[in-house]
Amino acid sequence: MDLQYFDRNLPQFSLDQVQTVVADLYRINGDFKELNCERDISYRIRTERGPAFVVKISNAAEPEGVVDFQIKALQHIVEQDRALRVPRVIHTTDDKPFDWIQSDCGDRHMIRMLTFVDGSVMDHTPAAFNPRTRFNIGVMLGRVTKSLRNFYHPYARSNDHLWDMSRCLELRPHIGYLPDGSTRQLCNRILDRAERLILPQLKMTRWQVVHHDAHPDNLLVDPADPTRVIGVIDFGDMLFGPVLADLAAASDSFQDDGTDPLDALCDTAAGYDSSFPLEENEIDLAYDMMLICLLVNTIIVGARDALHDGLEKVHIENTGLFPRMLERLWETGRENAIVRLRRACGFPVYSARQEGDEVFPDHTQQLLAKREDRLGDVWYFYDKPLNFTRSEGPWLYTAAGTAYLDAYNNVQQAGLANRQIARAIARQTAAINVNTRYICDIVADYAKRLTAELPAHLNACFFVNSGSEANDVAVQMAKFATGNTGALIMEDAYHGMTETTMCLSPEIYQPPDNVACLQAPDMYRGPFADEPDAAQKYAADADRAIADLAAHGHKPAVFMVDTALCSNGVLMAPDNYFNLVAQKAKQAGAMVVADEVQAGLGRLGNMWGFKAQALDHVDVVTLGKPVANGFPLGVVITSRALLNRFSQAIDLFSTFGGNPVACAAGLALLDEIERRDFIRKSRELGDYFRHQLQKLAGQQALIGDVRGKGMMIGLEFVTDRARKTRASKQTAQLIELLKEERVLVSEAGPKNVLKLRPNFSWQREHVDLFISTLDRCLSKI
Ligand code: PMP
Repeated sequence: MDLQYFDRNLPQFSLDQVQTVVADLYRINGDFKELNCERDISYRIRTERGPAFVVKISNAAEPEGVVDFQIKALQHIVEQDRALRVPRVIHTTDDKPFDWIQSDCGDRHMIRMLTFVDGSVMDHTPAAFNPRTRFNIGVMLGRVTKSLRNFYHPYARSNDHLWDMSRCLELRPHIGYLPDGSTRQLCNRILDRAERLILPQLKMTRWQVVHHDAHPDNLLVDPADPTRVIGVIDFGDMLFGPVLADLAAASDSFQDDGTDPLDALCDTAAGYDSSFPLEENEIDLAYDMMLICLLVNTIIVGARDALHDGLEKVHIENTGLFPRMLERLWETGRENAIVRLRRACGFPVYSARQEGDEVFPDHTQQLLAKREDRLGDVWYFYDKPLNFTRSEGPWLYTAAGTAYLDAYNNVQQAGLANRQIARAIARQTAAINVNTRYICDIVADYAKRLTAELPAHLNACFFVNSGSEANDVAVQMAKFATGNTGALIMEDAYHGMTETTMCLSPEIYQPPDNVACLQAPDMYRGPFADEPDAAQKYAADADRAIADLAAHGHKPAVFMVDTALCSNGVLMAPDNYFNLVAQKAKQAGAMVVADEVQAGLGRLGNMWGFKAQALDHVDVVTLGKPVANGFPLGVVITSRALLNRFSQAIDLFSTFGGNPVACAAGLALLDEIERRDFIRKSRELGDYFRHQLQKLAGQQALIGDVRGKGMMIGLEFVTDRARKTRASKQTAQLIELLKEERVLVSEAGPKNVLKLRPNFSWQREHVDLFISTLDRCLSKI
């Protein structure tokens, strides 16, 4: 940028001349008061009739297109947001938005008239310098940016001026004008970082026409309540630039009163974000942009001061505020600033995502202490639990930005932080979320979609908030329908954490007398593993279990089963096993409940786990975990007749269960399953995964068995393949080694089996990465 720009070269007109021209062009007379402008001259005119105006005579160097740009932008803002108090353009008596006048020395200048916006200039209103006003400045500027969102003008890129933050590097030659060595040094450091990191990232944020000059001289507050920001003026620095420039300019509204510049930035950002939501890459650059804003002010004001040595009337007085604030903000540090900015705008706390991002120190120990204090001593994965702050697809990221491949988590089945589902949740929340005793369309739409591919008799849904609740309600229904009090379940099953479902969870709790456990149909190491009629033999255990119940005075109300047999170590039951047990249970009076919390929604390569496992008839299906990709939702699906009888008998209701937001999440998950062909993917990628594991078994003797269906895989380790000796210690060691190699897995019920449940965002490359890492880790054991 040319140094001559430091010479403001103001238009040369006497007050008399201006008054004559104004009377001639606009028929406006009144009291003229000169306003402080950088390159133009402006007067406020108070007329006798009341309304006040501002006349502006542009710098001779100003291109006509730029003035047209400013006029059209003001007209556009008013069209978009009528209530925004910005200057309105007044046309000349012959209806021109601006005209030309000539100075004595022959220069031609544009002249235009605007309405004067009333209010107290913030800079002259000490009571306006407080956090609430700063928030409201942000709100106001957000509205200005929003109203300019869809504005285009061919001269938007032609308003060249020194203050353009995105061109800050061009100010580098002028750093030498600054008197103080340490400020110079800091300016150079900031520009170095801007060049290397910040400006390239800024290019990836949103750009549009921005006001770019919302400092306290251009903001008007209500004299009766200075926290109310009522107007924005001076659109002369508008240009096509990053949205963040508006936020940064609006955030330097502090006096020399000890305000922390980061406080100012956070307050303003929170307000700005509330009317023009910031994007995540923007919030992480806001601090740097504020540094650049202060740097631009520091250099220009300092250099002008040095060049003109107080001779020319100065535009901005050099009080040393900018370099002081610059230094202070720099000392705050990027990490601290980003954490605070994220909190201010409700973004989850920072974690690095790309190269060049700051790596923050690990604070897991402090976090653990804080959690224990308020959350108690609960169970976490790993001796040294992992603190994740961000996720995407198959990856979980720690605060320091370390990525872990998630092969365990079956809740976010459509991918971690699935954008479509997140958006559906946000949009529904913004529209309506309400007690489920009012009626909303989306709930019925979702129930219809969810049951579309189920057998015809499974045609009614009751919504709750979790898998446990769904199973609890299913058991209540079964008891109500059958009049029986007992339950049949698999040994080592897990069905939930309510009082009723805990009794059905022998994986963790000792079942009471009315619950009988069935021997798991283990085709790898079970007693009938190698027998052709294994299904009948395992199923015969149901007769024993029913007899046991009878011995305690119970008949089974329910046979509840997770057909993925996940907590049994992802066993693959012999053909027809589930049907045989179901028939016996039904004969004894029970209803069959398929607990699809693990197996449902495509996990086993079929929409429904019981179908994948060829269980022909079920009376009830329950869903949880992945049904809304992690948003709390549980579902009980049964026949309309049973649901009606049951709900009338006990006045069944759940305040939150199946609320419109949960249903929006559930519906979005069904869309994802369909559009991204997840069921086929589950089959194909699951088969590929097992095939690669089988291949690895050729080299790694610890692998005893590879089994499963779809994207549910059981991987059993043995120290001796012939004897099938459980490699429990080695499995525990492997889990830790994999963690060190940034891969997350967990054991299934038996301590020598891993249950692998990758989400559907996995690709072959992730499977390959898993296999090579597993290979490396097994070689270390
Ligand atoms: N059923 C099965 C088969 C499960 O695996 C689980 C949870 N692991 C539940 C029910 C309970 O679901 P929630 O934790 O959502 O209550």
